[in-house]
Amino acid sequence: MRPCRWRPCPVAAQRRSGGPAPPPAAIEHHSSLDLYTSKWRYAAKRLRPCDGGSAKQRELARNKSFMAPSTVDGPSMGEPTLKEKAWEPSLEEGVLAAWKVDPDLYRFAPERGQAVYVIDTPPPYPSGSWHVGAVMAYSMIDMIARSQRMLGRAVLFPFGLDRNGINIERTVEKRTGKPLHRWDREAFIAECRKEIEAIGNGLLELAIRVGMSADFARTYYTDSDEYRAFSQAIFLELWPKGLFYRGERPTFWCPVCETPLAEADIEYEERASSLVWMKFPLPTGGEIKIATTRPELLAACRAVMVHPDDERYRNLHGKKARVPLYGHDVPIVPHPSAKPEFGSGAAMVCSYGDMVDLAMFRELRLEPLKAIDETGRMTEAAGFLKGLKVDAAREKAIDELRVRGALDKVEPIQHQTPICSRSLNPIEFISSDAWYLKQLDFREDLKRLAHEMEFRPTRHRQLLLDWMESLTIDWPISRRRFYHTEIPLWYCKKCGEALAPPPGKYYRPWKDPAPFSKCPKCSSKEFVGEDRVFDTWMDSSVSNLFLTRYRSDPTFFKANFPVSLRCQGREIVRTWLYYTTLKSWLVKQSKPFHRVFIHGLGLDARGRAMHRTLGNVIDPWPLIKKHGADAMRIFVASETNPGDDFRISEAKVGGAAKFVTKLWNVARFISSFEEPKEGKLLPTDEWILAELNRLIDVSRGAYEDLNLFLPSNRCREFLWNLFAPHYVESRPFRRTRSGGPCTAAACIRRPSRCRETESPERGRTSRTNSSPSTRTSGSENGTRASPSTSSSRASQSRRT
Ligand SMILES: [Zn+2]
Ligand SMILES: [Zn+2]
Repeated sequence: MRPCRWRPCPVAAQRRSGGPAPPPAAIEHHSSLDLYTSKWRYAAKRLRPCDGGSAKQRELARNKSFMAPSTVDGPSMGEPTLKEKAWEPSLEEGVLAAWKVDPDLYRFAPERGQAVYVIDTPPPYPSGSWHVGAVMAYSMIDMIARSQRMLGRAVLFPFGLDRNGINIERTVEKRTGKPLHRWDREAFIAECRKEIEAIGNGLLELAIRVGMSADFARTYYTDSDEYRAFSQAIFLELWPKGLFYRGERPTFWCPVCETPLAEADIEYEERASSLVWMKFPLPTGGEIKIATTRPELLAACRAVMVHPDDERYRNLHGKKARVPLYGHDVPIVPHPSAKPEFGSGAAMVCSYGDMVDLAMFRELRLEPLKAIDETGRMTEAAGFLKGLKVDAAREKAIDELRVRGALDKVEPIQHQTPICSRSLNPIEFISSDAWYLKQLDFREDLKRLAHEMEFRPTRHRQLLLDWMESLTIDWPISRRRFYHTEIPLWYCKKCGEALAPPPGKYYRPWKDPAPFSKCPKCSSKEFVGEDRVFDTWMDSSVSNLFLTRYRSDPTFFKANFPVSLRCQGREIVRTWLYYTTLKSWLVKQSKPFHRVFIHGLGLDARGRAMHRTLGNVIDPWPLIKKHGADAMRIFVASETNPGDDFRISEAKVGGAAKFVTKLWNVARFISSFEEPKEGKLLPTDEWILAELNRLIDVSRGAYEDLNLFLPSNRCREFLWNLFAPHYVESRPFRRTRSGGPCTAAACIRRPSRCRETESPERGRTSRTNSSPSTRTSGSENGTRASPSTSSSRASQSRRT
């Protein structure tokens, strides 16, 4: 037994002194009446009727008279009303079934007069089944929704599925072995719909099974006509403001997805590559050695750059060098972008190897040459490499350099490679025609909004600020894909004018007739529809506007925008949070949210991100079957520091399941006593109620602060270290079994009359109580298992 760190237990004190117990410190300012009538009644008032119980049980739950203390005979022990001897995850199924029959249970009900609290939750992006990290992340968000209900708010907790996009398209492409651009568009869309339906339903089933308390009756889908029309309407509202422009310029390009990408779509990964040292002859004699990872781009080399302070090359400034294999001369330019420490210190500037090349071409006004096409193959301009994929072309270029004596050496190198976040393929920089949304102009405004929003944890605001600071190009919003929201534009065939229809309808310009009679510029009557689509973040970035019924319910919108809370993962700050901030600024010149809750990533037991390629993805279903959803919820709430990544292992989830078992055992034990109608408090009763009230206070404060860690741990400590060993197992408590007065036990178990009394951590069931199996006789020998501080109404509270 651990040494006691707790304040004196009145029971122990009583026993030691042989006299009456002193009143515990915690209740000095409260009479027992206070305890009952203030906090308890307060709790009772907010206790929603229990869905799992009968009408009678609900009535009991509302019965305030239960709270009034008076004296009766104590309870007597009988058969436990909880029949199941041990906790089983399968018991959760019964709770879910009980929830299901009450359609109003989680319905957003502002008519009850409570303050409305809107949570913008990430609509999952289905591309297969959820891995366990995602399930736990959504459980955290659910706990927040439940705790906000417990705090007395009318919570709009939507569930959506973000079904547009490359993920589903690539799933179809892989399954059929046929790339999108070889499909008939209509047929491809039909295939995507079929596929997404099955995957989306699987996600919904899982979300319900893990206890999400969302308003599933009103699940929204970003690929619905309604949502797409809304997304288009926001575009069309902004259109007259001149925020969009079209341009042919080099941009990030994924040769696999065959579409331009935004900076937010790109990730960087350390990949093995070769650093190829080449010899560029100088027309005046001699040579300059140049190291590159992209020898296949020699045809597109337009300059060689060296650092102005690099003494090795000072005499070559302004001279020419001859490009091997292709034979054209290029200038040797001094420029601070050159890195003397990398390779030979001299680098080639070609169209386009990387971001530096892009900047150099712009700055030096070099004439670009397109060496790689949209499918990732070498073009005619690459001469003998024509038609090869980039990797093969690189190998062939190295061979040819070797044959012609222009190769110095090849070194293996680990290289930070930009890759497409969807296909994980290295991206290229290709000049293409795209629509852009201005964003760089608003950097300072957006940074100000970031400071206006409250972040939990506060340190994660910096993620958003850093991203805003790092942006270098406007947002390319057009994609050459099919299963997305269409860009609602038509072009005049004669003069090329881009024409936008009025907002409000869902437009498919690639197949719908143009909604114009004549071109306002040249009066031509012939139009061609835009066949490109939006980046999917154009859809997701209006979720907060959609939820608050912008455009359809001005009163609701005015009352609830900015949205109360955005919950999301750290990894999508640069996309979802950033783009929503941008859109809300452009549409309403407002911050999008009052508060932002950022959670970490679920990692494997070794701390690695879960990836199919690593084989470390944990399927949530077996875990749920073995340990139950509640165990997963308790694990993620109590083991995760707010905002930190968390390591998931079955052992830890199993450990959390032990707490559920303990709770069950305690509940079952208590359920074997009759509940007294009224009674008189003993000092032990007052003590435990005071502890309980402290737990409630701490938990309320933590939930207001979106902190799940504190209440879950305090509840665990309360049950494990105080309630079970020092109260339920105490002599006075047991004495009451044989006829003595006891009200606190009844009070503590009071919410247990509710079939389902749970905290957000415990998605469901629970009845308080104590287990014979956990008897520790701490209070009997005058020591106490150490306990903690407080506790929560959570441990006794209802489903929120
Ligand atoms: Zn891609
Ligand atoms: Zn025209």
